[in-house]
Amino acid sequence: MTALFQQLPAVDKLLKMPQGEQLIAEFGHSAVVAMCRELLTQARQSIQKKHQLPDYCNDIERTFAELQLRLHQQKTVQIKTIHNLTGTILHTNLGRAIWSEAAQQAALSAMQGNVALEYDLEEGKRGHRDQYISALLSHLTGAEAACVVNNNAAAVLLMLATFAQGKEVVISRGELIEIGGAFRIPDIMAQAGCHLVEVGTTNRTHLKDYRQAITENTALLMKVHSSNYQILGFTSSVSEQALVELGKEMNVPVVTDLGSGALIDLSQYGLPKEPTVQEKVAQGVDLISFSGDKLLGGVQAGIIVGKKEWIAQLQAHPLKRVLRCDKVTLAGLEATLRLYLNREKLTENLPTLHLLTQSLETLQDKAERLKVRLEKRLNSQFDIQIEESQAQIGSGSQPMVRLPSLAVTMAEKTNMKLTALSERFKKLSQPIIGRMENGKLWLDVRSVATIEMLLQVVDEL
Ligand SMILES: *Cc1c(COP(=O)(O)O)cnc(C)c1O
Repeated sequence: MTALFQQLPAVDKLLKMPQGEQLIAEFGHSAVVAMCRELLTQARQSIQKKHQLPDYCNDIERTFAELQLRLHQQKTVQIKTIHNLTGTILHTNLGRAIWSEAAQQAALSAMQGNVALEYDLEEGKRGHRDQYISALLSHLTGAEAACVVNNNAAAVLLMLATFAQGKEVVISRGELIEIGGAFRIPDIMAQAGCHLVEVGTTNRTHLKDYRQAITENTALLMKVHSSNYQILGFTSSVSEQALVELGKEMNVPVVTDLGSGALIDLSQYGLPKEPTVQEKVAQGVDLISFSGDKLLGGVQAGIIVGKKEWIAQLQAHPLKRVLRCDKVTLAGLEATLRLYLNREKLTENLPTLHLLTQSLETLQDKAERLKVRLEKRLNSQFDIQIEESQAQIGSGSQPMVRLPSLAVTMAEKTNMKLTALSERFKKLSQPIIGRMENGKLWLDVRSVATIEMLLQVVDEL
C-alpha cells in the first residue's frame, strides 16, 4: 500500500508541468490547485479501500485529462436547455412558457445596463417599478391598476396578508386546492395569518353558504380556480358575479386566484376556454391574481389586477418589497404584454400560443423531419414510426383536455434497450426529453419550439 501511495504525484509537481500550467491558464490557479487536491484525496481513498490506484493515476497524461474534464464540468452551467418532446406545452418541471423574441430582447437590454426602473423619466422624480405594466394591464383588461410579484403563489400570499391578516377568509370546500410544489390554499392562508372559513361541501357550495359564514371578522370572500382537477356530476358552485353582489351587500371585498388566467378567449382558436382576466374584471371582482408564465406565455411572475385603492395597499405592504420582481423580469413581462396589443399576430409572436395552435400539417412536417433524422442514426436498432398522440396544455390548465398531436415513437427491435436510448438522449448537449408509454418512447412534436436545433442535436447521436 505504501508503494501505491508513493506513486501519487505531488500537487506542486503537477502544477509545474507544462500541462499543469496550461490548466492554470485556462481555469485559474486556485481552481486547479483545489481540483488536484480533490483528485488526490479520492486516489488515497481508493488505495485504502480497494488497494489499487484509480485508472486516472496510471499515467500522468490520464491524470491531466481527468483534471481537464472535471474542471471543464465544474465551469459548465448545469441548468441546461433541453428539447421538450413530452407533449406538455407548459411543463412546470421544464420551465413553463418559452419567452417570445420581444421578451428576450427587452430582457437582454435591461440586463446589459441600468434602467429607469423606479424613476419617472418625464417628471424626473422617483417612480414606481410596476408603473408601465400597471398602465398596460389596465388597457388590456379594463382593471384600474396592477401589482407584479415573483409568482402567482406570492400574489395570493400578498393579497391574503394585506387584507386578511388576523381575520377570516371565506372559501368553498370545493376550492381548497393543492397545486404541485407544496402550494396548498390552507397552508398559504396560515402563512398569511388568516383564518380559513370553509363553506359548502366538496361538490356543492351555494350562495347562502357564503352569506351565513360572514361575520364582523370576515375580511375577504375568496374564489380559487380549480386549475388542475375537475369535479364532475352533481356539482354546484357560486359564480364570481353572484359573490361580488353578496360582497357589495355585506361590504366584503371579493378576490379570485385565477391560476393560469388568460388574456384572450382561447376558444377562438378551437381550444378549450379558460376564464379570462377581462371577464372577472367586468364581473366586478376586487382583486384577481394569475401567473405570468402559464397561458399568458410570458415570464415567471404573479400579477394582481383590480381596484386602485386595493392595489395601492398591496404596493405599500412590506411583503411586496420581499416579493417584488427584478428589472429583467419586468422588462420581459412588459414586452410580452405589449404583444397582446396586436391580437392578429399573437399566434405568430407568442411561442406558447404558437405551439398550442399549430396545424396538423405543421406537426406532420415536424414529425417527418424528426423521423428521417432519427432513422439515419438509429434505424437498425429501433422501430421508428409516426403515430397520433395526445398533447396537453400543462401547468394545471384544462387538465382533462387533450390536444390532437403527432409523435415519433420508438420501439425496441433488437436487444437495444429503450431505457438506454432514453439515457443517451439525456446525455446530448441539449438533452431530448420524451415520455415512456405503452412500452415505447414517444417524442411528441407539438411541444417542440425549435425544430432546427432539435434536428442538429439528433445528429450528435
Ligand atoms: C398555478 C397556480 C398557482 C401558482 O402559480 P405560480 O405562478 O406557479 O406560483 C396558484 N393558484 C392556482 C389556481 C394555480 O393554478
